[in-house]
Amino acid sequence: MNEKIRIMKFGGTSVGDGECIRRAAEIVASGAAAGPLVVVVSAMSGVTNRLIAAAHASARGETQIAGELAESLRAQHRAAIDLLITDQEARAKLAAEAETIIQEVSGLCQGTALLRELTPRALDSISSAGERLTARLLADALCDLGLVGVALDSTELIVTDDVFGRAEPLMPETRARTTARLLPMLEGGAIPVVTGFLGATPEGILTTLGRGGSDYSATILGAALDAAEVIIWTDVDGVLSADPRLVPEARTLGEISYNEAAELAYFGAKVLHPKTLRPVSDAGIPVWIRNSFAPERPGTQITTLGHPTARGVKAITAISDVSLITVGGRGIVGLLGVAARTFTAAATAQANVLLISQSSSENDICFIVNAMDEARTLAELRRAFAFDLAHKEVEHITVDPEIAIIAVVGDRMQGMPGIAGRTFSALGQRGINIIAIAQGSSEYNVSLVVRSDAMRDAVQALHVEFELHRRAERIE
Ligand code: ADP
Ligand code: ASP
Ligand code: MG
Repeated sequence: MNEKIRIMKFGGTSVGDGECIRRAAEIVASGAAAGPLVVVVSAMSGVTNRLIAAAHASARGETQIAGELAESLRAQHRAAIDLLITDQEARAKLAAEAETIIQEVSGLCQGTALLRELTPRALDSISSAGERLTARLLADALCDLGLVGVALDSTELIVTDDVFGRAEPLMPETRARTTARLLPMLEGGAIPVVTGFLGATPEGILTTLGRGGSDYSATILGAALDAAEVIIWTDVDGVLSADPRLVPEARTLGEISYNEAAELAYFGAKVLHPKTLRPVSDAGIPVWIRNSFAPERPGTQITTLGHPTARGVKAITAISDVSLITVGGRGIVGLLGVAARTFTAAATAQANVLLISQSSSENDICFIVNAMDEARTLAELRRAFAFDLAHKEVEHITVDPEIAIIAVVGDRMQGMPGIAGRTFSALGQRGINIIAIAQGSSEYNVSLVVRSDAMRDAVQALHVEFELHRRAERIE
C-alpha cells in the first residue's frame, strides 16, 4: 500500500446511541476522503458494565438475568439501527445479525447460571458482545452514507496470550494476520470497522485486553499496519491538565510526550488505557486524542518530544480504587529479605504494584495495589509470612483501602529544584496529610498518598500551585 493508513478509534460515549454513531460515521467519512482508514470501536457506553454484571449475576444462579439482558440490549441496539439505516433490507439484515449476537450472549449467561460457575474465559466471551454489536452498527451506518464499511471481529486480527481478562498481544503474529486481512480490503477501497477490546489466542479462543482496552486495540493495529497516526475520539477535548470532573478549570494540553501520556494513564487519567502508548512509541507513530462531539477542535497530540515547558509540571492525576498494604513490626528491622519476600508474594498474586515506600526506620514496608488485586495479595502475603507472623517477627499485615494516589506529572520535572517542596507545602497549607511519598517510580512523576476524602482537594490545590489553568510556553 503506497499511502499511509490512519486509525480512528471511537470510545463508548462516542458510539453511545444512534445519533452518536451517525456523528462517528460522518467523522469517518470525512477522514476516509483523505486516505485509507481503519476504524476501531468500543461498546456503547455502559454496555460492557451491564454484560459483566449479568455474567456475575448468572454465576450466582440468577437465571432470569439472561432474558433481561437480551431484552435491554435488543431495545438499545434496535433503536440505533432504526435511526441509522434507511434501507429496509439492510436494516432487517443488521437487526438479524445483532439478534444472533444477543442470543449468543444470553445463551452464555444461561449456561453460566446453570453451572453456577463463571470462568475467566466465559467472562471474556460475554463481555465481548458490546463491541461486536457496535462494529456492525457503525459499518452499516457507513454503508448508509454510501461508503464500504465492513465489520470485522478483532479475534481475526489481534493474536494474544491466554491471560483472560488482560491478554497481551503477540505482535509478530498480529502483524502478519492484520496485514494479510486488512491490506487487501483497504486496497479495494473498503473501510474496516474492527471491534476494540478483543483478541484471540493462536488457537482462536476469544480474549479481552482489560477494561478500557479499545485504546490499546487501536495502537496495536496502528503498530501492526505501520500507521501514519492513531486518532482516539472521545468525549473530552483531549488530555487535560487534570480530570475535568475533579478540576473544572483544567485545560487541554496541546502536545505531550509518550512518557507523559503513559505516566498520566498509568496514574489514573482514564482518557487513555495505561498500555495505549506501548505499541506505538518506539516507532514514533503520533497519537491524537480528540472530541467526537467537537471535531473542529484540535485535540492533544502525543509525540516523542511532547511540548517541553519551563514549568516542568504538565498535569495532576489521581487514582482512588487502590489499597495501601503495610507489612510491619519491630522485628522486621534486619530480618533478611523481607522486601524481596513481600514483592515476590505480590508477584505471585499477579498484583500490579503501583507505588512502594519504606520508612527509613525500616519498621514498615508499604505498597499500593489496585483494589481488585487486594484480597489475592493479602492472602499470598499471609501465606508467605505465616512463620514470621506466628513468631511475631512480622507483627502485622494491614490494608487501608481509603486512600488515593496523587501524581504530579511532567517530562522536565527531573532535576528541576523545588517541585517536591512546592507540592508538599501546597498540600500542607490546605491541611492535607501526606501518608506516603514516592519519587522515582519514574523521572516523570512525583506521587504521594493521601486519604481518599482529601483527593479532590489535593488535586485542586496542586492544579492552582503549578498554575496549570494557564498555557505554558514551549522551550527547546
Ligand atoms: P472513552 O469511552 O471514549 O474511552 P473514557 O470514559 O474511557 O472515554 O475516558 C474519557 C474520560 O476520561 C473523560 O470523560 C474524563 O472524565 C476522564 N479523564 C480523567 N482524567 C482525564 C484527563 N487528565 N484528561 C482528559 N480526560 C480525563
Ligand atoms: N468496552 C470496553 C470497556 O468498557 C473497552 C473500552 O471501552 O475501551 O472496558
Ligand atoms: Mg476509555
